[in-house]
Amino acid sequence: MKKTALALPVLALMSLLSNTVIASDEVNLYSARQEALILPLLVNFTKETGVMVNLITGSDDQLLRRLQVEGDASPADLFITVDAGRLHRAKEAGVLQPIESDVLTEKVPSNLKNVDNYWYSLSQRARVIFYAKDRVTPEELSTYEDLADPKWKGRLCIRSSGNIYNQSLVGSMLEAADEAHTQEWLNGLVKNFARPPVGGDTDQLKAVAAGECDITVANTYYFGRLVNSKKAESQAVAEKLGVFWPNQGKGDRGAHVNVSGIGVTASSENKENAIKLIEFLLSDKSQTWYAEINNEYPVVNGISPPSSLAQYGEFKSDQLNLTKLGENNRRAVEMMDIAGWK
Ligand code: FE
Repeated sequence: MKKTALALPVLALMSLLSNTVIASDEVNLYSARQEALILPLLVNFTKETGVMVNLITGSDDQLLRRLQVEGDASPADLFITVDAGRLHRAKEAGVLQPIESDVLTEKVPSNLKNVDNYWYSLSQRARVIFYAKDRVTPEELSTYEDLADPKWKGRLCIRSSGNIYNQSLVGSMLEAADEAHTQEWLNGLVKNFARPPVGGDTDQLKAVAAGECDITVANTYYFGRLVNSKKAESQAVAEKLGVFWPNQGKGDRGAHVNVSGIGVTASSENKENAIKLIEFLLSDKSQTWYAEINNEYPVVNGISPPSSLAQYGEFKSDQLNLTKLGENNRRAVEMMDIAGWK
C-alpha cells in the first residue's frame, strides 16, 4: 500500500502531465467505525481530490494494538476511534503525531481536540439521563450529582465500570469536584443500582422501558438509533423514554459530552493527504452527513443536529477539555472499583 521510492519520480511527472487520478496518491485509514458509517465520505473525498483512500476497519482496541505492533512499519496514516479516553490511550501509546492545520484550528472547538494537536474530534455524543416517562417526571431530575441521592435507591440501571464511556463520565466528575466528593458520589450511585451492571447502553434503555429500573445514563446516539429504527419494538422503547439534559442550571457546567475522533499516525508517509482528509471530514457537507448517519452531534459550529435528536432540543455541554478525560482515566477506574461498581 505504500509508495515505493522508485515509483515516486515517475508518478510525480505523470501528475504534472495529466489530471487523471494517480492510484498511488493515497492515504491509509484504520477505522474503528463500521465501513457504512464512513465509506461514502471517503468516496466523495477521492472524487474531489483524486486521493485514493484504503480503509481498514476493526474494533477500537484491536486497531490500536495493531498500530502498536506494526510500529514504524505500519501502513496506516490515520486512526479513527471513539471516546476521548481511547484517543488519549493512542497518543500515550506513541502511535499518533501532532499536526499543524489552520483549518482544523479554526473549525474544531479547542475543548474537542487534544491540547497538543495529536487528535481532533469528528462528532459529539452526550452521555445523559433517560427516564421512564410513566414513573419519573423531569422535575425530579437535575444533575449527575443527584443520581447518588437515596431517592433513586434500586431505580438506576447503568452498564459496567469496564466500559470507557462510564470511565470518562467519572473522569469529568473528577474535574467538577475533588476526589473525596467524587468517591462519595460514586459510593452513593452504586447503592442506587437496580441490578448488577449487565449489557450495553441500549440494554439499559430497554430495561428502563421494560420497568426493570426507572432511570439510566446512556449516550445519545443509542437513543437516536431507537428513534430511527424501523422495528416497532425499538420505536416502542424510545416512546416510553424521556431525555433529560443534566447540569443545565445557571452557572452549572452542562451535560457530559464525548467524541469520535481522528489522528495522524506516527508512521504516516502520506501526512499531507492525511491532513487533507481530516479537513475534508470537517467540511460542512461531511459534518452534516456524518452526524446524521451516526445520530451524533456535529463538531463544527452552525451544523444541524441529526434529525433523530433535533426534536429533543438544544442543551448546554460541559466545556471541559476532553484531554482531561484521558488523564483522569486511571484514577477514575480505581475509584469506581473502590465503590464496588462491577
Ligand atoms: Fe458506543
